[in-house]
Amino acid sequence: MNIVLFGPPAAGKGTQARKLVADHNLIQLSTGDMLRSARKAGTELGRKVACIMDTGGLVSDEIVIALIEEQLDANRDIAGFIFDGFPRTVAQARALDRALESRCTAVHSVIRLRVDGTVLLDRVSRRFEDENREDDNPEIFKERLATYNEQTAPLLPYYSAQGKLTEVNGMADVETVSLSIAKVLSVQNALRRR
Ligand code: AMP
Repeated sequence: MNIVLFGPPAAGKGTQARKLVADHNLIQLSTGDMLRSARKAGTELGRKVACIMDTGGLVSDEIVIALIEEQLDANRDIAGFIFDGFPRTVAQARALDRALESRCTAVHSVIRLRVDGTVLLDRVSRRFEDENREDDNPEIFKERLATYNEQTAPLLPYYSAQGKLTEVNGMADVETVSLSIAKVLSVQNALRRR
């Protein structure tokens, strides 16, 4: 089963993706983590994306699509993927649909973690202190949120039109959110097996 975890930055996608990996034997594909690793390793790609990441913008569709395709090819015999922080534009969503279709599979479920802006700002200032992520700085975070609203939120109608979108209250505690996601997936799995 291929799942897209959808939501604004700091909605809890990474935390929930890691839980799903443990519970369902899936592979988490986080483009944010891949880009951070490239930066840490000091690769050409890392240097190329540093400035845009530090200012809260989006890295080009071509770069992130190539990263995802590489991982799809490297992990052929697995139960499915959890896409975390990808897709972030309609062009990326279309490319993902094509990439999966050419591998005889598809996006099966899109779970939107719904979190209010004030809760996000509160969470991210805590994360800024705990994890020292430069792009969690409140000013840059506001940019990331604006980028989400302009370029990523339009994916909601895209997936809704495909009948794949389910909303979960992302403001509850981690365990409650995780339970809600598990319930959604179990219903969807049962329907798929029919
Ligand atoms: P994240 O950890 O998912 O919040 O990603 C951190 C940063 O990496 C984002 O603010 C973007 O600059 C970049 N990034 C991650 N995923 C994508 C994507 N799918 N498309 C474009 N840029 C991305």
